[in-house]
Amino acid sequence: MIDAKTKLCCLIGNPVEHSMSPAIHNVGYKTLGLNYAYLAFKVLNLKPAIQGIKALGIRGVSVTLPHKVEVLKYLDKIDSKAKEIGAVNTIVNANGILKGYNSDCLGAIKALKEKTNIAGKKVVLLGAGGAARAIAVGLKVQKANITILNRTVSKAKKLVQLIKLGKFGGLDKLQLIKSADILINATSVGMYPRINITTVPKKFLHPKLIVFDIVYNPKETRLIKEAKSISCKTIYGYKMLLYQAITQFELFTGYKAPVEIMEKTLIKSLERKN
Ligand code: NAP
Repeated sequence: MIDAKTKLCCLIGNPVEHSMSPAIHNVGYKTLGLNYAYLAFKVLNLKPAIQGIKALGIRGVSVTLPHKVEVLKYLDKIDSKAKEIGAVNTIVNANGILKGYNSDCLGAIKALKEKTNIAGKKVVLLGAGGAARAIAVGLKVQKANITILNRTVSKAKKLVQLIKLGKFGGLDKLQLIKSADILINATSVGMYPRINITTVPKKFLHPKLIVFDIVYNPKETRLIKEAKSISCKTIYGYKMLLYQAITQFELFTGYKAPVEIMEKTLIKSLERKN
C-alpha cells in the first residue's frame, strides 16, 4: 500500500518505457512487504533530475543510458570501482548524501562466479563499450588473464590501458577463443531484433569453453545456442541483469532480495517483450 511513509526509488534514463526494472524491484518490495515503490522517469536534463533526488528524498536511483557517465559529476561520493569504470548506474541517497555505484560490474561477476572460478582463467572479452568496461574492471579485480577484442581496435587498446592489464586486438583475432577458458560477448551483436547473428564463428568454440553472452533479449542468443550444441557451459545475459538489480535492491532497502520471484518476473517480462 502506498501511503505518506512510502520510500520512492526510480530509474532515470531515456528511453525508459521498455525497462523491466520497475517490475523486478516492485515485485521484490511486495514479496518482502516493504513500504517502497519504484517508478521509471524519462530524463532529458540530468542536473535538475539529480537535484530532485535530494529535494524529494528519493531513496535510490537506477541510472541508464545516456546518463551513466555524465552523472558522476553531480554525485557527492563515488565507489572506487565505479570511479575506475567511469560509469555509475546506481545512486543511493543516505540522508542527502548521494553515492554512486556500478552494479553492472558486480552483476556480471556474480553471474560468472556461479559457474566458474575466475582467478587465472584465460578470458576473451568481446567488445569495448560501456558494459565491456564494467566487466573488464571486475575481471581485473578477480585476477583473470584478459584479452579484449573489439571491432574498433583503438577502443580495445584504450580499455586495456584503462585497466592496465591484458592484451587487445580486433575481430581478426577470434581464433584466440580456441585456447580460452571463458568467452564473454559484451558487444550488442545478436540483440533483438537482429537475433540471428553472432560475432563468433562456431568453429572457434570448444566444449571446455564457458560462454557468457550479456545480450539478454532474446534470452537465448545464437551464440548461446551454438555453444550449447557443442556442450559448453553457458551463462545467459539476463543473469547479469538480474544480479545487478539485486545489488541495487539490497543497497536501496538494506534487505536481502527475494531472488527467485525477481528472476521469475524478469523472465516473464522478457518473454512478453518479443
Ligand atoms: P555500447 O557502449 O554501445 O558498446 C557496443 C559494443 O558492441 C562496442 O564494443 C561495439 O564495437 C560493438 N558492436 C556493435 N555492433 C557491432 C557489430 N556489428 N560487430 C561487431 N561489434 C559490434 O553498448 P553497451 O552499453 O556496452 O552494451 C552492449 C550490449 O550489452 C547491449 O546489447 C546491451 O543491451 C547489453 N547489456 C547487457 C547488460 C546485462 O545486464 N545483461 C548490461 C549492459 C548492457 P565498436 O566499438 O567497434 O563500435
